[in-house]
Amino acid sequence: MTTEALFRRDAYLTSCDAHVREITDTGVLLDRTVFYPLGGGQAGDSGWLTLGDGVRLRIADARKSPLDGASPDDVLHLIAEEQRDQLAGLRAGQPVHVEIDWERRLRHMRLHTASHLMCAILPYPVDGCSITADYARLDFVTTEPLSREDIDARLAELVAKASDVTIDSISNEALAANPELVRTMSVKPPIGFGQVRLVRIEGIDLQPCGGTHVANTAEIGGVRVSKMEKKTARTRRVVLALD
Ligand SMILES: [Zn+2]
Repeated sequence: MTTEALFRRDAYLTSCDAHVREITDTGVLLDRTVFYPLGGGQAGDSGWLTLGDGVRLRIADARKSPLDGASPDDVLHLIAEEQRDQLAGLRAGQPVHVEIDWERRLRHMRLHTASHLMCAILPYPVDGCSITADYARLDFVTTEPLSREDIDARLAELVAKASDVTIDSISNEALAANPELVRTMSVKPPIGFGQVRLVRIEGIDLQPCGGTHVANTAEIGGVRVSKMEKKTARTRRVVLALD
C-alpha cells in the first residue's frame, strides 16, 4: 500500500482525515496525506497531527519514507523531537487529522513557481536548486554575465501576465524522446508510474516536476533577485526572495 499523495492533484488542500499506517521511531506514515515530502529541491511541509482525543502533535518535517520497499509517494511525517514519546501510544489503523502550515507552504509554492519563470528568463541548464519558505536558489550553467535589473523586470512582467499553471503528464517514452523538457539536471524527473508529471505555465514554460505550484503566476506576487554570485567558473547562482 502506498500513501495517497493528495497534494499532487490539488496543492491547495491544507488538511485531511487519514489513518495511521505505520509508526517508526521518528514519525508516522498515513494512508493519505496533504504533506509534501522534501524532494525535487522543495522543502518538506511542517504542520500538525491531531489524534481522536484532541491531542495535537507537531509535525516538524515531511520526508520520503526511508523504510525498505517504500514507494516514492510514501511520506514519513516526522514528529517534533520533544513529542516523540507520544509515538509509542499510536497504533496502525487509528484515525487522525493532519494539517499543514499553510502560510509556509504557500511561500514554497510561490517561490517554486517563480523558479519555473526563471527557467524561461534564463535559458541555461540548472544544476542545482533549493526552495524554502525564505528563498529559491538556482544554479545556472552559464558563463554569460547576468543582469539583476533585467531579471527583476522580466519576473515582474511574467507575474503580471497572470498565466495559468496547470498539471499535465507525458509517458516515460515520450519524455525520453524529448529530453529538452528536463530543465533541472540535478533533479530527476518524477518517473516511476509510467507517466511523468508535467507542469505547464501557459505560454511561458513546460517541464517535468513533482512539486507544488500556485495556480496562476499572479499569485507569486512581488519577487526579486536577492543575491547573485559566481558559484564556480561555469555556474551562476541566483537567489530569489519574496517582497
Ligand atoms: Zn515545479
